Amino acid sequence: MFDSARPYSFHIELTDKCNSGCPMCGRTDAMNRCRANEAKVRKIELTLADFEAQFTPAFCRQVEEVQFGGGLGDALAASECLEICDYLTAQSVRLVVSTNGGLRSLDWWRRFGAVMGRNGSHLELHVDGLRDTNALYRVNTDFDKIMANAAAYLATGAVADWYYILFRHNEHQVEEARDLARDIGFRHFVLIDTIRFGASRRFDYVLPDGTPAALEPARLSAADYRARFRTASEAEEAAAAAPPALPAGSKAAQAAAGINGIRCKAQMLNRPYITADGNVSACCWIDHSEEERGLQAAAGRQFADYNIRSRPLEDILRDEPFAGLFQRGWQQGEGAICRRKCGEGVRNKRLRL
Ligand code: SF4
Ligand code: SF4
Repeated sequence: MFDSARPYSFHIELTDKCNSGCPMCGRTDAMNRCRANEAKVRKIELTLADFEAQFTPAFCRQVEEVQFGGGLGDALAASECLEICDYLTAQSVRLVVSTNGGLRSLDWWRRFGAVMGRNGSHLELHVDGLRDTNALYRVNTDFDKIMANAAAYLATGAVADWYYILFRHNEHQVEEARDLARDIGFRHFVLIDTIRFGASRRFDYVLPDGTPAALEPARLSAADYRARFRTASEAEEAAAAAPPALPAGSKAAQAAAGINGIRCKAQMLNRPYITADGNVSACCWIDHSEEERGLQAAAGRQFADYNIRSRPLEDILRDEPFAGLFQRGWQQGEGAICRRKCGEGVRNKRLRL
């Protein structure tokens, strides 16, 4: 699956801690006032020492990009987030940091901007609405604080994009938010259609003050806004969406062609996933799953053997099940998660405006 001859692009959950309680997030107990689900959240995090041990200067030369996001936490909630970003960008590793933007002081954001601006790293700020609507999804966040943090960061010259999930309750503010993003200095404004609504097309939850609430899908999709705004250059969009050219015969080219209908995104991007407890997985979908444990057992190993605190990251990536067991399983029609996530190509759709 992973290829040490190609540059790596890691996806890393720095922590499972977060200041917010987004109803649809895996960490959130939506019907319990959007509190953290204690059964899932362990308040764990990766440390600067973990990165110094595994992302040595020599290994960093093989790493093109590290994305901090996903999983059960917000990267900025990790105690040593700034120190880790400083360490990696000093090694010329490009970062993409995803956050709700609600944590930390203005001074912290200025220092963060200086670190990110060093090598073209960028921030993905997830703000789903304006002052009166953002906290309906980004529960417990303060819009004014987020905007002040963003302004302090952008004033350093560092790059940030504004990500906006479309809901019924915020769709009337898309144009205003896009204009605000431009005024403040965001590079792009990106609309997202979430795929997390089930058949009922409604998601019930309870706000922190005990008020029952419900999320509903927006009437227009992200693609509908292309026609409405006509601001994105079609050629630029097409170029951004086009997959990179892949060397013939490489593992990435094999992944792009697909095995038995599965096109593994982790393999195409050469992007392993590391969780806040140090576990190394193929991707955030399969991480900690029964399917993953089955493959580890087939490799004659245990879950703990895949932790960067147990053995070197480079050894783990070269080992089974990444070396061949995943691919063999797909050939034999196995891999329910892989088929669901990478078989049909059903993912959140995004549109840059
Ligand atoms: S900000 Fe991110 S990690 Fe935090 S609750 Fe929302 S989706 Fe989950
Ligand atoms: S779900 Fe399976 S096929 Fe998709 S990226 Fe993860 S490991 Fe690869």
